[in-house]
Amino acid sequence: MKRAVYPGTFDPITFGHLDIIERSAKVVDELVIGILADSRKKNPLFTIEERLHMLQESTKQFSNISIQVFDGMTVDFAKKNNANLIIRGLRAVTDFESELQISQANQQLDSSIDTMFFTTSLEYAFLSSSIVKEMASYGTDISLFVPKPVVGMFHQKFPDLISAEKLNETSLL
Ligand code: ADP
Repeated sequence: MKRAVYPGTFDPITFGHLDIIERSAKVVDELVIGILADSRKKNPLFTIEERLHMLQESTKQFSNISIQVFDGMTVDFAKKNNANLIIRGLRAVTDFESELQISQANQQLDSSIDTMFFTTSLEYAFLSSSIVKEMASYGTDISLFVPKPVVGMFHQKFPDLISAEKLNETSLL
């Protein structure tokens, strides 16, 4: 049984993450998505409970996926789940430098755990949780970049958000 973990902040999940989830779930038997609770990234927009909820709602279509919240080192999270593979996504050269360092450090910590990288699908190469949050804060429609349950959560946080439906309605008037 091949089990992998896919760790991240997921603040919030985007179509870029979902693409990596879908592709990696095809090459392993079980994929455990790990939401990093003690992220060093300052001031997450969404609480752990909200991020968990958005991930659950956005990955319902996959039968071999589970989601957990974890603290601490990814290798320990992998070991706890009997996984010997860590999944990461690579967008640009900037991702590569830090991801290489992290994967080599993890190798030193536990040589039985490997990291498998998926290069981003071109259409999502620019996409990050941060850029989505920035767009949303200016009221830009984000439905092209995040799954529907995430759009709903953004509407709660940013009531002024423009939705594609609303724009269509307006253009019909
Ligand atoms: P972010 O970097 O957007 O804040 P996370 O910390 O949640 O995201 O990242 C989790 C993993 O998903 C990382 O390996 C990251 O490189 C990857 N990832 C994020 N966005 C994309 C994307 N658009 N395409 C491919 N991989 C991505």
